[in-house]
Amino acid sequence: MPDDIRPDSKYETVDLSPPVSDEVKATTCYMCACRCGIKVHLKDGSIRYIEGNKDHPVNKGVLCAKGSAGIMQHYSPARLSQPLRRVGPRGSGEFEAISWDEALATAEEWLGDVRKTDPKKLAFFTGRDQSQSLTGFWASQFGTPNHAAHGGFCSVNMAAADIYTIGGSFWEFGEPDWEHTRYFLMFGVAEDHDSNPIKAGLGKLKTLGKAKFVSVNPVRTGYSAIADEWVGIRPGTDGLFVMALIHELLRTGQVDLEFLARYTNAHWLVRQAPGTADHGLFVRGSNGKPLAYDRTSGQIVDASRTDIDPAMRGSFPLHDSAPGDGGADTEAVPAFQLLLDRYLDARYSPDVVAAKTGIDAGAIRRIAGELAHAAFEQEITLDVPWTDWAGRTHDKMVGRPVSMHAMRGISAHSNGFQTCRAIHVLQMLLGSIDCPGGFRYKPPFPRPAPPGPKPAGKPHQVSPGAPMAGPPLGFVTAPEDLLVDEAGKALRIDKAYSWDAPLAAHGMMHTVIRNAWAGDPYPIDVLFMFMANMSWNSSMNTSETMKMLTDKDPETGEYKIPKIIYSDAFQSEMIAYADLILPDTTYLERWDCISLLDRPICDADGPADAIRQPVVAPDRDVRPFQDVLIELGVRLGLPAFTNSDGGAKYPGGYPDYLANHERAPGIGPLAGWRGENGDSHGHGAANPDQLARYVENGCFWKGEFTPSQRYHKHANKDYLEHAAKMGWIASPDQIVLQLYSEPQQRFKLAGQGFGRVLPPVRFRERIAACFDPLPVWYAPFEDGHTDPAAYPIHALTQRPMAMYHSWGSQNAWLRQIHGWNRLYMNRKTAVGHGLADGDKVRVESPYGSVNAVIALMEGCNTDTVWTWNAIGKQKGAWNLSKDAPESNKGFLLNHLITDLLPPKDGYRFVNADPVTGQAAWFDLRVRVVKDDNAELGDGNTKPVPRAPGVKPAKKLSRYGAQFLPARSWRRNRKGGAT
Ligand code: SF4
Repeated sequence: MPDDIRPDSKYETVDLSPPVSDEVKATTCYMCACRCGIKVHLKDGSIRYIEGNKDHPVNKGVLCAKGSAGIMQHYSPARLSQPLRRVGPRGSGEFEAISWDEALATAEEWLGDVRKTDPKKLAFFTGRDQSQSLTGFWASQFGTPNHAAHGGFCSVNMAAADIYTIGGSFWEFGEPDWEHTRYFLMFGVAEDHDSNPIKAGLGKLKTLGKAKFVSVNPVRTGYSAIADEWVGIRPGTDGLFVMALIHELLRTGQVDLEFLARYTNAHWLVRQAPGTADHGLFVRGSNGKPLAYDRTSGQIVDASRTDIDPAMRGSFPLHDSAPGDGGADTEAVPAFQLLLDRYLDARYSPDVVAAKTGIDAGAIRRIAGELAHAAFEQEITLDVPWTDWAGRTHDKMVGRPVSMHAMRGISAHSNGFQTCRAIHVLQMLLGSIDCPGGFRYKPPFPRPAPPGPKPAGKPHQVSPGAPMAGPPLGFVTAPEDLLVDEAGKALRIDKAYSWDAPLAAHGMMHTVIRNAWAGDPYPIDVLFMFMANMSWNSSMNTSETMKMLTDKDPETGEYKIPKIIYSDAFQSEMIAYADLILPDTTYLERWDCISLLDRPICDADGPADAIRQPVVAPDRDVRPFQDVLIELGVRLGLPAFTNSDGGAKYPGGYPDYLANHERAPGIGPLAGWRGENGDSHGHGAANPDQLARYVENGCFWKGEFTPSQRYHKHANKDYLEHAAKMGWIASPDQIVLQLYSEPQQRFKLAGQGFGRVLPPVRFRERIAACFDPLPVWYAPFEDGHTDPAAYPIHALTQRPMAMYHSWGSQNAWLRQIHGWNRLYMNRKTAVGHGLADGDKVRVESPYGSVNAVIALMEGCNTDTVWTWNAIGKQKGAWNLSKDAPESNKGFLLNHLITDLLPPKDGYRFVNADPVTGQAAWFDLRVRVVKDDNAELGDGNTKPVPRAPGVKPAKKLSRYGAQFLPARSWRRNRKGGAT
């Protein structure tokens, strides 16, 4: 040992591993939606340090910048500290503090009045909360169909297209086979959803060095920055790009026909009877089962038979005229024939598509060739025997090692549903669904495409004082399932499951404020929201939304949205617009559940779920929202939350509910350690010690599939039987992938005027054009409404690594990374506009204007500008200081995005995907004008004061100084030894 580091040397010794805490508690991170496991170190009762939990299945110890900054989230100066009642006009931010008794009594009175008279006059919508199995259940018990979470403005395009096509989805219910893939194609993902798992996965790809990673995104940030190839596509044209890849694969004959015949509906016969009510529907036998043409016998037979050689091409006469055919004989063709007819058309050739997508035709052809090479020349074989649904045994698992992933850049366009379906068609043609090296399902998926149930909310299902006869969200398969009245008018306040958005599987939270304000389709009485910044970054047309929240009926003088209850942990922009505030805790102060009934933390090799436990007690008069919801359930007498004597069924609140609630016999919110002795997993009686077992295990439970269950899950007997036993699916039948979507055709037919339930005339053209059993591409709606010469540039946002939506706005550490946002532009585009780095500009759309500072870069599509999402803030919100860069230099792009399209035949459709209602955030077109006098900061809104109980924020955060040893940081700064 050198002299100068001996203990007795004149130099100070350094303890390289000092104990950082006197207690460590495991829980689950909530700084974004990934649900990584964390260990929170506590020192003298305060949070000292957060580390990733090495044993946790999601992150395996990895912690991102956001996760470690959870300390600053917890100690944020923007935390609310007591219930509040509005005393000034809405929007003024003037409140008085009230007790919880008063707050709960007020909520009970408002909600009780509604439930007794007309439960649908409650609109209950939640943001990115992770307790949707509770909130949806509560809404159903209350009796209102007007419930959903944030999914309608986040990614329902993806979720619905995924589930209707392959019975699973990217991200929460699927993942690439990182270990075996040889080609990874990613669409429209910056650094948002699935943060740590994707980072770890990409790290694995790079380490193994066997796969190519191609990122398709107009902007080269986040994951795209480390892609082997970046495809800087023009926004909203991804569907065309994918269809050109399909064109090339079909043209060159590089598709997996065996996979298609075995696992998809490609061979199912489709009736060809144009001008009839059955055109384009599957030909079915008398038992309702789809039929196929068997080339061996020359007969039309049950398509699910395994002893046939099904025709994939050709045309076959039918002599069983369907009702509606007028008795005429018709023909049928395999769905695959229709696919060939569609995509071999020259309009999908790379040469034609290149101009619209901005991608060179040669590059499209090359990528198609690379995909085919990876799929068919680099086949992966695992020596794992398995048995298929029909009982046939296979001695190997064989895979096409091409995997894909997609997210916001696809979903946030009005054509996103069809684009996402096109991606799945591409996967199916390559045979790369749930195989070694391909996309893999995470349990409890796959499920039938689509699964049940249907959404409840028809008039006979909604009654005063009674629960609704089913869940508010579900999957429609035909116009008969829609929630519309006889005249075709929406029955839900958000118009989900109406002709505006028939497949709105996540609801349409982004339309609620406008519709409630307009009384369209009817007025509501109470708007109840949780964790949703709907007056700011979660709404389009933000300035207008604020006006709607504050607008009064001139005749009565009452607000057009009469009562607003809001729950949040922080003083977000939305606080000023509520009448009653129910302050929530931070994620480190409560019990929580990441459930298999909602969106669990499974991976492809086994089910998993998790909890949060309180690691510190609240030091304010706040309560966990879930406890409050259960308490309100008792006060309102909701049957599932009360005993027969009217007392609380779960007197211990949410943790009591987590351990003891059963959604179905033996199935509860948590799957681990069920049964009286805690030795049953998946199902079993409630276990009073269940939460303790989770805590002992690091706050998660993880099951493992046997090797024979791990791939081909949609057709794997072992897996399907296990899934049925666990209650994930109703039966162990094969899950057939829907290359051709019959529900789409049913809606198309309705748009064409066929069927029992038809859309009002003004909807028909749109329904007929945008629904299609094979994916179609149409230009983003904004392109057709906004003059492309006047507004030549696409504008969109990307989510940075260090912020999740607006959640980092009050975080002292994360704000140092993204204190304000610039407008990023390609250097070449800037030259054309006479702009230089650092110039001030006005960014204008037909709907508004914001000011920004330009930053130039190379990694951006030349027709696109972009900025970081949700960095710009309203002055005063989040307890930010008057001179905070977020509100003095930052800007919010949402001001420029319309929430409604221009009138058509006297009606204004929402600015959304017409299939699912997904908000079309990224359809925006703008122009950028140099303006040296542009005043930065948000000139669209007024400042708000600090809410009562929110203390002034310290100018300088010295958090952590208290943990230093005797030699304080103060002495150190004066020059003492460090
Ligand atoms: S990825 Fe999300 S959940 Fe995981 S550590 Fe980061 S912020 Fe937390």
